[in-house]
Amino acid sequence: MTKPESARILIVEDEQILLDLLAQHLQKEGYAVITAQSGEEGLELARSQHPDLCVLDVMLPGLDGLSLCRILRRESNVPIILLTARASEIDRVIGLDTGADDYVVKPFSLPELTARIRAALRRSLQRNSGLLRVGDVMLDLMAHRVFVGEREVKLTPKEFELLATLMRNRGVVLSREALISQVWGYDFNGDIRTVDVHIRWLREKLEEDPANPKHLHTVRGVGYRMD
Ligand code: CA
Repeated sequence: MTKPESARILIVEDEQILLDLLAQHLQKEGYAVITAQSGEEGLELARSQHPDLCVLDVMLPGLDGLSLCRILRRESNVPIILLTARASEIDRVIGLDTGADDYVVKPFSLPELTARIRAALRRSLQRNSGLLRVGDVMLDLMAHRVFVGEREVKLTPKEFELLATLMRNRGVVLSREALISQVWGYDFNGDIRTVDVHIRWLREKLEEDPANPKHLHTVRGVGYRMD
């Protein structure tokens, strides 16, 4: 996604008339629109089409909007706006930890929904366009590039992920286990010393004196910290 206007929006709504109305309106606003009429179909489309934002009706037959929202939130940071119909639903939407970014109460006006969508996309764009900086090390998440001062450093995908994780948690000691699960995934079943090897490679690429690192610190018996 480069600018909010070109974003792709998934709408999951079982009421055909409302679904068509929303789809037409958002297309007129310049968005690419994908539609689904059930939670299951919505989940499948979200996984295969990677929309930039999801609008989910809470009351859906089968997999309901709140459950779908929780599943999507576990899998990605896609902004989610819930459509709720009744006061009792609003309580559930707010009360439960669904991970939704916003909600709109039916009946709503189309300009109101559009404004919420625009705001959620803007927040998401800001969140994702982050540059991470620690000292003279700069990591560009969008462009997938790393610089030390003016010099660009080429990293492998795992080195990049490891560095981004350490930079996001600047000043915090992360255990090898935590780094393994965040970078390699919880189902990684290789050697935990993989982390040490990657840290060594990162030091060789980033540090002026890899033997006396300025940024990538070993905290003995605990793990690694970047600052
Ligand atoms: Ca409904």
